Amino acid sequence: MIENTPSVLIIYTGGTIGMIENPETGALENFNFDHLLEHVPELKRFNYRILSYQFNPPIDSSDMEPSFWAKLVKIINYNYEHFDGFVILHGTDTMSYTAAALSFMLENLSKPVILTGSQLPIGTLRTDGKENLITAIEIAAAKNSSGTAMVPEVCIFFENHLMRGNRTCKINAENFNAFRSFNYPPLARAGIHIKYEPGLIRQPDPSKPLKPHYLFDTNVVILTLFPGIQQEIITSVLHVQGLKAVVLKTFGSGNAPQKAWFINLLRDATERGIIIVNITQCSSGIVEMERYETGLQLLQAGVISGYDSTPEAAVTKLMFLLGHGLSNAEIRQRMNSNMAGEITKRIF
Ligand code: ASP
Repeated sequence: MIENTPSVLIIYTGGTIGMIENPETGALENFNFDHLLEHVPELKRFNYRILSYQFNPPIDSSDMEPSFWAKLVKIINYNYEHFDGFVILHGTDTMSYTAAALSFMLENLSKPVILTGSQLPIGTLRTDGKENLITAIEIAAAKNSSGTAMVPEVCIFFENHLMRGNRTCKINAENFNAFRSFNYPPLARAGIHIKYEPGLIRQPDPSKPLKPHYLFDTNVVILTLFPGIQQEIITSVLHVQGLKAVVLKTFGSGNAPQKAWFINLLRDATERGIIIVNITQCSSGIVEMERYETGLQLLQAGVISGYDSTPEAAVTKLMFLLGHGLSNAEIRQRMNSNMAGEITKRIF
């Protein structure tokens, strides 16, 4: 490695960004990342050491699975000492799930892991992919004045905003501005300059080495409430064989129907050891179960608060904690603590 030359490993998992138009057929095809510089010649101007690794075959992110998250962590762990930062190119559809999962899997992360993608393939004229890729690389290599990584976190960079990955949701299937972090401000904004917000960025303990984790247990479900939801349906969901945890998407600040059958079903499930985490259906804001009678009864039924967690962070965190074989009490306690910046606990 050439001393002081910034170095970035790009990992292409799949998705729209890595496609170009076949000049003969006009069809969109995945391009070979060994030829990255041919397709994005702008990268040469960085004078960085940029290497790439591609999933073979690349996957549409709708096919993303915990086994692929484990593969990403293996690649990062294997190359950790050799690069200043990592850029993961990923389909946008499930990018927020991957970002949240990686934030839990890469304990004591001290280097940037920046996920990005695009709405239009990198080989099309109006692509947002080049801009996203080039800025993501610059962020992945950025150091502060003490020589440590500017953003030692798992982030999503998309359309000028650098966001903590486990705070993001995909909110738009059409616009370039496809992601939001409703409950936590952006860590940086890219305009003429990239303006970082050091006060918002997590700082690792430099004495602790990276600790990679790989295990997940997917016996979980996300259940969204709506007026008129049927008793039989909730009964069958809560009795699915092997079910261990539920992310319950409630109304407003964590409210749910007051019907006795509903509360009894939840109490019965928590008494059988199923962990039920309350998050709001609203895009923004926090669950306050003590605020209304309707939320309080959930608390009394053994439901725990997910605070201001996104659904993506809540479900990946549950799968992660269950995968590590922790006891019910430990999982409940960790769901209520901040592991990787995914929740803000407020005292009301
Ligand atoms: N379906 C694609 C994916 O998520 C969309 C994209 O790349 O943005 O893989």
